[in-house]
Amino acid sequence: MTDGCPETFLVMKDNQAPSPSAFTNFATPNGMARFHSILPLAALIVACTSATSSTHMAEQTPAPTTHGNNPYYSRTDTAPLHVSDAEWKRILPDSVFEVARHANTERAFTGKYWNFEGLGTYYCAVCGNALFRSDAKFASSCGWPSFYQALRPTSVRYKEDHSYGMDRTEVLCGRCGSHLGHIFDDGPPPTGKRFCMNSIVLDFVPEGGK
Ligand code: FE
Repeated sequence: MTDGCPETFLVMKDNQAPSPSAFTNFATPNGMARFHSILPLAALIVACTSATSSTHMAEQTPAPTTHGNNPYYSRTDTAPLHVSDAEWKRILPDSVFEVARHANTERAFTGKYWNFEGLGTYYCAVCGNALFRSDAKFASSCGWPSFYQALRPTSVRYKEDHSYGMDRTEVLCGRCGSHLGHIFDDGPPPTGKRFCMNSIVLDFVPEGGK
């Protein structure tokens, strides 16, 4: 799939509520005994509900890619990198490598940042280069995280892309040359540009975060 604007939607399933019958039949000879047997079940349900809520809170800021075995990753060094694909293949998770080095595209509406609204900075998940500020991110219906400008002019590079029978402009990381996505001319003011990016090659760091 290419990063245009296909209309695909994820269906999020709500947690299943316990059956009402679990709380009936108290007016029986053994009603009170049954009531007491249900108390632990009710406590368990409350505990599970709380745990689920905590999980949803944590998901509000998606976890970035881990970089423990990536010696090239730096959020301060802007010197261009010249690293072979074989070396990146050895270092990067397969899912990141396939997008970053083979220009694959993640499915629309599936990435961790397409509808994320946190305040902070987006870095290259391959090398740590600062790419975008959250204040340049806008709500696009395309299903991929979209920005109207890069953080610095040198944050990204551009390359003509004629794959899949289309004439597009590919966006590469300005430091490591990894594929990030494409840029289109249907973005909002002030630039009119839409940087259509793949979430998996981005790392979000919130304001004041490390
Ligand atoms: Fe990079």
